[in-house]
Amino acid sequence: MAKRIVVVGASLAGLKAVEQLRGNGWTDAISVVGAEPWMPYDRSLLSRHLESAGVDARSSLGKPFLEALALPRSPLLGEVDWRLGNPAVSCSIEDKQLTLADGQRVRWDGLVIATGLRPRRLALHGHEEQRFVVHTLEDATRLRSRLTAGRKVTIVGAGFLACEIAATATQLGCAVTVIDSNTAPMERPLGSLVGRLLQRYQEARGVRFVLGQRVEGFSTSAIGELNGLRLSNGSLLPTEIVVETLGFQGNVNWLAGNGLDLHDGVLCNDRLQLPGHPGVVAVGDVARFVNPLYRAITQRPEHWAAPDETARRAAVSLTAQLLCRKPRTTPFRPLPQQESNLFSLRLQVIGAPGYGQKMCVLDGDPSQPLDDRSTLAIGYLKGTVVTGVLLVNLPHRTRAFRQLVANSLEEPQQEALEHA
Ligand SMILES: Cc1cc2nc3c(=O)[nH]c(=O)nc-3n(C[C@H](O)[C@H](O)[C@H](O)COP(=O)(O)OP(=O)(O)OC[C@H]3O[C@@H](n4cnc5c(N)ncnc54)[C@H](O)[C@@H]3O)c2cc1C
Repeated sequence: MAKRIVVVGASLAGLKAVEQLRGNGWTDAISVVGAEPWMPYDRSLLSRHLESAGVDARSSLGKPFLEALALPRSPLLGEVDWRLGNPAVSCSIEDKQLTLADGQRVRWDGLVIATGLRPRRLALHGHEEQRFVVHTLEDATRLRSRLTAGRKVTIVGAGFLACEIAATATQLGCAVTVIDSNTAPMERPLGSLVGRLLQRYQEARGVRFVLGQRVEGFSTSAIGELNGLRLSNGSLLPTEIVVETLGFQGNVNWLAGNGLDLHDGVLCNDRLQLPGHPGVVAVGDVARFVNPLYRAITQRPEHWAAPDETARRAAVSLTAQLLCRKPRTTPFRPLPQQESNLFSLRLQVIGAPGYGQKMCVLDGDPSQPLDDRSTLAIGYLKGTVVTGVLLVNLPHRTRAFRQLVANSLEEPQQEALEHA
């Protein structure tokens, strides 16, 4: 009887998993279960091209939005049973069976967990009509429809996603304020010096920052609308729209009751198998594993390259298990890389700058204000190890800097800095 692999999550990691399973010789059945009603699309474009969300005619992407977002599907995928708009609500790993929202039961021989993340929210109730997140196509379309010129928009959180949304909303004519309890935007991954440099660049283009403050409550008008945010310093920040960008948490509730480590995604071994369950693997943003590049720290990658890298690894493990092949023993040590666009700046974060303890300038001059054409490369060091690099407008040097970080993490050597 034909066997079946079930992939839960129909986004980038789910699609990459199907590609890699076929590439590793899996010719039996594959089902993909997705909570969203759409075929896999590129989520990173939701914030980068927020201005086009919900635009049916030709958007700034040159095509209708959904069409422009769609991820290409290789003809080599063959026949795949897509079950969309019907999330998995529970699962018994022992019985190798899922239950979907409509009550269907789906049996598997191998399971791929690709359910990604969902946004964290402010711990405040009410005013849902004026509160937004950006994670799905519907979220982006709903927010875009409210971003009209003159609107007072507050973005809570000052990470990459917040700053991308702030840039778009400002360009659409909104009065945008970004608020964060840290003292600089993107402070945790990039440090306060670089964060302030990026802050000044954004301020010069109309984004306002309120830093070192937390949101403590909503202020409500006489007609019951949200008209402001109460901050930890007692002040009131007038606002009509609140966009919550407070980070993400794993979509793992459906896995509860199986004795798994579901703290911050799902814990896997370095073959991306769940410990004790070799026929179950996790891929993409939801997978947490020890990356030997960063020694004992478990990481949940949360960036665009991870679905591909983890799917390659997981497909080898799962097909080896199901097709009785010898498992691969090479270590899995992917080097993270995240990209972001801020107005005209292209930011690339290679490795994990956040683990560094001091910075060194590899290119450009961070004492000068950034303009649209500035270039900058900053290394982040722990001892003599380069844990990560930030590149500003230097895409043609990505490879060299990736090599620098990879070499340094493999074998600490200060001289490597001079040869990038
Ligand atoms: C707005 C935005 C902008 C981004 N920009 C960048 C960027 O510029 N650069 C970068 O490197 N990365 C960026 N990222 C991150 C990048 O998009 C993710 O790393 C990538 O989408 C991860 O893919 P994934 O398939 O693991 O998870 P996801 O894309 O989160 O997909 C998980 C899928 O699983 C589905 N699902 C959840 N629960 C269930 C269930 N119980 N049953 C069935 N299906 C379920 C979800 O509906 C979703 O479709 C961005 C992310 C967002 C949200």
